[in-house]
Amino acid sequence: MKKSMVAVAGSVLAAVLALSGCGGSSGTNQNANGGSSSASPNPKSTSGDTIPNGGTKSADKTLEYYIAHPGGEKTVALTFDDGPSGVWTPKILAVLAKYGVHATFCEIGPNATANPSATRAVIAAGDRLCDHSVHHNEAMSSRGTAYETSEIVDAKRMIEQAGGPGTQVSWFRAPGGDFTPEIRQISADNGLRPLAWSVDTNDWQRPGVATIVSTVKKELRPGSIILMHDGGGDRSETVAALNQIVPWLQQQGYTIDFPDM
Ligand SMILES: [Zn+2]
Repeated sequence: MKKSMVAVAGSVLAAVLALSGCGGSSGTNQNANGGSSSASPNPKSTSGDTIPNGGTKSADKTLEYYIAHPGGEKTVALTFDDGPSGVWTPKILAVLAKYGVHATFCEIGPNATANPSATRAVIAAGDRLCDHSVHHNEAMSSRGTAYETSEIVDAKRMIEQAGGPGTQVSWFRAPGGDFTPEIRQISADNGLRPLAWSVDTNDWQRPGVATIVSTVKKELRPGSIILMHDGGGDRSETVAALNQIVPWLQQQGYTIDFPDM
């Protein structure tokens, strides 16, 4: 049920993407379908979202919508998808450094290969890495196990090679939230936790800085995982919004942290 709802939402947004051309690649960024993460998992499903049919023990983990379940500590996570970008990732890192906070970067493998200095800058800043596939196919579950595996494993290897020896990739975020039990299993088999999100800023659509900021203020809960983008096109709105969101979070008493590992 939930899977089909996500798939429908993804299709609708893919159509919007095709019409608007939003999130298209620019400069050194590669993004196979010109898109960005779109379908937003339903935060309300968090508490019950265990793997159906028992799964296997290695995949027996909840899908990670929150770094802690809502109602807990005032802690949130910032996540940035579709990079790295030689242009925008450093600007986002600079904002994070200015406020002394950290984030998780979900990188597309070929973008890491194209911009290894950006991947290394993420590591050097003490931030963390997440695998966001090779081709950003938001329907990767429709292509079978071998394809899913290569999307996950090859991207992980590209990110590790970009980052250099010792690079740790800790999560997998399926493009479009296309998390099936099989995709979670493949992730788990490769040492990656599934990382979803609970606040979708839709920054990739460039809705305006004020809208990005107000979406966070409206939807934020303790434990939220906030989705933004450092890749997929001009991210100047994201950078400007982040410059407001981080100090606002700190004023509200939130700690900004990584998702659980
Ligand atoms: Zn994405």
